[in-house]
Amino acid sequence: MEAKKRVFIGLLAVVLIVLAGLSGTLWYLLAARPDAVSRTIVWVVVTALAVGVPVFGLGLIILVWSIISKKSPPALQRLVSITVDALYPFVLGVGRLVGISKDRIEMSFIEVNNLLVKIRSQRLTPDRVLVLLPHCLQRADCPHKITMSLDNCRRCGKCVIGEILALRDRYRVRLSVATGGTQARRTIEALRPAAIVAVACERELASGIQDVQSVPVLAVVNERPEGPCRNTTVNLMAVGETIEYFLKGGA
Ligand code: SF4
Repeated sequence: MEAKKRVFIGLLAVVLIVLAGLSGTLWYLLAARPDAVSRTIVWVVVTALAVGVPVFGLGLIILVWSIISKKSPPALQRLVSITVDALYPFVLGVGRLVGISKDRIEMSFIEVNNLLVKIRSQRLTPDRVLVLLPHCLQRADCPHKITMSLDNCRRCGKCVIGEILALRDRYRVRLSVATGGTQARRTIEALRPAAIVAVACERELASGIQDVQSVPVLAVVNERPEGPCRNTTVNLMAVGETIEYFLKGGA
């Protein structure tokens, strides 16, 4: 397993071990010191942990097995998603405690997500694939409002929007630009794509992937030579290859 993916998987395992330890401690308090704590509250927590830890443990085992074997049993994909979503905030918390940056965890999560999506090898027609771009890919001083219509772009070459439009024309996929997460969600609701190629920063991608669980998302992290949210760019070859993944059903 690559080092990038190991960060997220390792933290998931640590979270489960901590939750299992917490469950054992509370169980001990119930049995040995019944007056020390409110029994009702502790019973609720112990029961939740007694159910959650084995279920999420199974989800983690399937996740690791999927990554190693490059197979993903469709019936168990939902369990993996539930495990990742339920434990993600704890993963960020443990990461903070042990000094792993949020960006690094988000990047690791994106790598794990991309691999799981690619394993499914879905083959789709172009009209079912949506490429979703952040507005910051456009030059900040460009007078042409691409948020109104992407075809307002004059393809002048000062930013990558023109070349991404060329990719859209070549592959005939849908293309949309969003000014933020809310607009991206609205676009997805309106267009109902079967798959999304999303370009954004690690933070937006990590939260977006979790928001649209029902739609597979292949994420491409943008490049930010002038800092976040301004005059960003993206590896066009990576975008093209990612689109092809969905159109060809694999590499
Ligand atoms: S390619 Fe040129 S016209 Fe198109 S959005 Fe970028 S700067 Fe504006």
